[in-house]
Amino acid sequence: MTDTTDRCIASHPEDPTPCVGPHDAVTVLDAHGNAATGCEWHAARLLASLDGARVEPGTVVGAATRVFAQADVTRPFAWLDNAPRTKPSQRSNAENRAARE
Ligand SMILES: [Zn+2]
Repeated sequence: MTDTTDRCIASHPEDPTPCVGPHDAVTVLDAHGNAATGCEWHAARLLASLDGARVEPGTVVGAATRVFAQADVTRPFAWLDNAPRTKPSQRSNAENRAARE
């Protein structure tokens, strides 16, 4: 198993991917106000997995905008390669928009 002890707070325990960039690039806030500060990569994956979450700027200029855009095309729980992708809640926002058009 990958050593995940030096990863950002936004990284999901089951997501084996390493951080990309500073660990305090942005902060993701869920619908209940819980905050997780993290790198751009994991923040985007976290944002895509949480219903009603939002992203706020951190230490990296422009990172929140990039995270928002990346989350839009990232599937919820993207690290689950064999997860079913048949329901709207299992697909990315971009995929759901394309399906409606
Ligand atoms: Zn990270």
